[in-house]
Amino acid sequence: MPTIVHGRFALRAGVPVDDLAVCVEGESIIDQGTLAELTARYPDAARVGGNRYALTPAFTNAHDHGRALGTMALGIPDNFLEIWLSQLARLPAIPPYLAALYSGLNLLRSGVTAVAHSHNPIAWSNLAVEIPESLRGYAEAGIRVAMHPPIVNQNQLVYADRERFLALLPTELREGLGESNGFDLSADDYFAMLDDLYRNFHDSQRHRAHIQVSPAGGQWCSDELIMRACDWARAHDTRVQMHLLETRYQRRYAYKTWGASFVKRLEAIGALGDWLTLAHMVWTEDEDIELLAERGVGIAHNISSNLRLRSGIAPIARLVAAKAPVGIGLDGQTLDDDQDFLREMRLAWTIGNQDGMSAADLSAETVWRMGTDIAAKITFGKGAPLGELEIGGLADLVLLDWEAITGQWAPADYPPRDLLPAFLLRRAKQAHARHVMVGGQWVIRDGAHTSVDHQEVAREIWKRLQFAAADQPNAIEPYLRQFYRAWDDRDYPTRRR
Ligand SMILES: [Zn+2]
Repeated sequence: MPTIVHGRFALRAGVPVDDLAVCVEGESIIDQGTLAELTARYPDAARVGGNRYALTPAFTNAHDHGRALGTMALGIPDNFLEIWLSQLARLPAIPPYLAALYSGLNLLRSGVTAVAHSHNPIAWSNLAVEIPESLRGYAEAGIRVAMHPPIVNQNQLVYADRERFLALLPTELREGLGESNGFDLSADDYFAMLDDLYRNFHDSQRHRAHIQVSPAGGQWCSDELIMRACDWARAHDTRVQMHLLETRYQRRYAYKTWGASFVKRLEAIGALGDWLTLAHMVWTEDEDIELLAERGVGIAHNISSNLRLRSGIAPIARLVAAKAPVGIGLDGQTLDDDQDFLREMRLAWTIGNQDGMSAADLSAETVWRMGTDIAAKITFGKGAPLGELEIGGLADLVLLDWEAITGQWAPADYPPRDLLPAFLLRRAKQAHARHVMVGGQWVIRDGAHTSVDHQEVAREIWKRLQFAAADQPNAIEPYLRQFYRAWDDRDYPTRRR
């Protein structure tokens, strides 16, 4: 039986349209029109919504890690990315199934129905088991996932020769780090595993799960590995996602290594194209913005994470002005540590509009699209009909509590029409996502999951958490600071303001 979903208005490509309802049958939107028109055409359809709601396509979280809880909550305080990374081995291990299930439930409550999951292995040697377990967790939550099993093959300790850094350390600390590079998965084994995962899980029809390839970060992967990943993705009509230019030290690594920017290096080896999504891009050069846009490279913008890990502010308004596809990702590090996607959009919008009358503008309508259709395209590719209210699209929908957003006694014509998108983006938050549909099924009704007991999953996770000793200092931190501080002394000609 079809369902008509309707609100006071609906957001189409970020623009409010009065009395726009959609009719859903099976997994897809089969029709749209006013509520009266659809009721006449489908007299037996169920109806969900009403004047107290605003209807929007659901959100896609374009970059995350599915850790269940934020790293601060798991015992690792925010710090510079390079120092924070050095501590992640101390994170308590949460079984991948439970971590994915809980992460998926949290995101759905925020109106997010699709997520890019950049996997952090508990054990690299066990990745082939961890990934299916993680997929199972997301499937049980009822959220779509673009899965990124990671691969790295260099520079994991610092963005330089390991021996040079080790020489700075006292003997005891050096011996504590051991001989291992920390990764023991060969590229051949990795791609063989990807082939298996792709065969077993990649869903190019219903788009419940995509298997993608993830050379985890520019400085951690050789050119050969990055290109092998791009070739694999193109051969399988899927995508590549990698972290890039998150910190100033990553930018400097590129100049030290090639005398050129990271983006130009990727262009030179043939990695840039519309198959690629780059997370962070805080230290994008001005002069590379046009090239990224021309090549159709997706950018996953992680504003909270970039602030919390002291990385900086990405030139998002300029990327958008150049027509680069920019989507929003939470990276598991939102400002309030709560995976609130609406607040993340608000922060991206507020900080995206920078000082100076010649700065590029970032409109509320654009930011809404960065959370919906554009985020979906850079995460699942152009072939997945997600993030829009169009006929034939997959029915991933959110009813936001417009009455709670405006305030109880607001008159019907409030706020003024032209203020509406800005008003919504300035005020809406997680709690306002009251009803969430994924592929024609309601997974959240009245703010609660329809089939999984969220609290019970949380209890299962808490039972298993064992924190590293809180008073244990991060012994390597002063040496990392010393190492990278030396990189601050040098500058390069194309420095961004
Ligand atoms: Zn990340």
